Amino acid sequence: FKGVNDLFGHAAGDALLIALGSRMAAAVRPADTVARFGGDEFVVVCEDVDERTALALGWRVAAAVQEPSQPGATQLSASIGIAFGTSADTDPDVLIGHADAAAYRAKERGSGGVEIFDEGLRLRAAERVQTETDLEGALERAELELVFQPVVSLADGTTVGHEALLRWRRLGGPAIDPAEFIPVAEESGLIIPIGSWVLEHACRQGSALATEDGTWISVNLSARQVAQPDLLEVVAGALRAGHLQPSSLCLELTETALLGVTPAIVTNLQRLDELGVRLVLDDFGTGYSSFQHLKDFPIDIVKIDRSFVANLGRGEQDAAIIESVVSMASALGLGVIAEGVESEAQADSLRRLGCPLAQGYYFGPPA
Ligand code: C2E
Ligand code: CA
Ligand code: CA
Repeated sequence: FKGVNDLFGHAAGDALLIALGSRMAAAVRPADTVARFGGDEFVVVCEDVDERTALALGWRVAAAVQEPSQPGATQLSASIGIAFGTSADTDPDVLIGHADAAAYRAKERGSGGVEIFDEGLRLRAAERVQTETDLEGALERAELELVFQPVVSLADGTTVGHEALLRWRRLGGPAIDPAEFIPVAEESGLIIPIGSWVLEHACRQGSALATEDGTWISVNLSARQVAQPDLLEVVAGALRAGHLQPSSLCLELTETALLGVTPAIVTNLQRLDELGVRLVLDDFGTGYSSFQHLKDFPIDIVKIDRSFVANLGRGEQDAAIIESVVSMASALGLGVIAEGVESEAQADSLRRLGCPLAQGYYFGPPA
């Protein structure tokens, strides 16, 4: 819906909601309830169903969503999770949480599917709650740390910047990758205090790394931080604490963070730009890759997603994509970084394609 609202306006979003609602209501049994739960989430409540009926209903709803609303219209899809309540276990929040976990797995397996909540998911849901609880105390227990990965110039191999990447070292345990806990931090809102910590520490440690002129420090921002009302103050405070110039700080955001932009986000980005901080569009090519984003937001650098780099040398397609991103960026006066460079061959190809900057294990792992 965010996408539809952004592209076609709220009236189109509302019309789509109404159409979807009636299609779903027509797909279930007369006594079942279809309700919008918020955003793009719907809940269907069915009484007296066995597993077979529930699955059949799930697939019917999935098919109803996929039915094009008008010839040529964008096809939609829904990921559907099913959870059963028993007379002993009827807490609606728990039930919806279970359905949500199942829907999440359906989504992971490719949109448009139907999944039933089971023991494995129960375990995963419990782990998630545990991760959230542990993460709450991680800042106080000083379990978070940053590692830095160099960004190099492909022309001469000099280091031009460093990206700060977050690690969580639970007491006595190994470092946990951000992919495991950032989504939990995002969902729980913990990303706000954690993100502020990252900004401050990256600036402090970064001013030590930024000894050479022009080396910058790059920090990843999550969608929630981008919308944070006091983001500018947090960034300015971090720069002061680290004695770092605004021009020595890059903030990396993904296109998903820019989806469903609000005036607050636009203002945030403009203010950061005025402050002199540079903005990087991360994972470029995986999201909407809307050129509109490059026009509407004060983006300074695009970072080509590592999936394109990984496929270099396997067919012409990805090389052509990289080449066109490079030429588009130079036409718009933007910098380009290719990420995930793991081999000399990839570095050579990127150099041939005119890509100026790169990052990856080949040049230096995060350390
Ligand atoms: P990202 O911003 O795309 O970061 C690059 C990821 O690629 C890092 O994973 C890095 O370790 C990894 N990488 C670097 N070189 C190579 C390579 O040559 N090959 C491959 N396959 N991978 C490479 P990491 O550190 O696990 O971080 C994963 C993601 O977590 C990041 O993706 C970023 O989206 C998020 N993240 C990390 N730190 C923070 C943070 O402080 N705040 C927020 N909001 N997100 C963070
Ligand atoms: Ca990044
Ligand atoms: Ca990236």
